[in-house]
Amino acid sequence: MIENVFCDRQKKYSLEDYMNYEASGRGNLGGEIPITVYRLLEYSLREELGERFGREGQVEIMRCAGRRAGIFFAEHLLDLTLPFHEFLAQLQSKTAELKIGVVRIEKLDKETGKIVLTVSEDADCSGLPVLNETVCSYDEGFIAGIMSAYTEKNYTAVEIDCWATGDRVCRFHVEVKEQRQKDE
Ligand SMILES: [Zn+2]
Repeated sequence: MIENVFCDRQKKYSLEDYMNYEASGRGNLGGEIPITVYRLLEYSLREELGERFGREGQVEIMRCAGRRAGIFFAEHLLDLTLPFHEFLAQLQSKTAELKIGVVRIEKLDKETGKIVLTVSEDADCSGLPVLNETVCSYDEGFIAGIMSAYTEKNYTAVEIDCWATGDRVCRFHVEVKEQRQKDE
């Protein structure tokens, strides 16, 4: 398993300019594209990153990109003022509505904030053959980014099970981790 390194949290992300979607700009085609197109982008990028930076670099980049997306998603599409349980319910309904996947909370430790959650019908990997690796590093970052934005603590998420490891859901261990330097 590739260690969950910390992404640079000091940087101000600037996705806003690129996230503007004008419905009138796609009057005929509309706002949705098939999952095949999404995966074509994701896995071609993943392959290119892997060839250039090795598997470790690729995982780290996908994870940190996912984290940026998760923070943007949380700040723009979720209500961060809700109490914890309502926030999780909102997260479940929003991710289903946007067809990201079906999120279920398996375990929740209120003391530590540790969560075990599953994503079924995951946009990234549902239906993949067994590849003997978890492939959802972007989702790891995405989930960690959402939880970090909500709690203002540094969350990490690690995928334990995945379609690509022969499971039928992706399962993530999500918990607060103190910031550490990469070279420690
Ligand atoms: Zn997966």
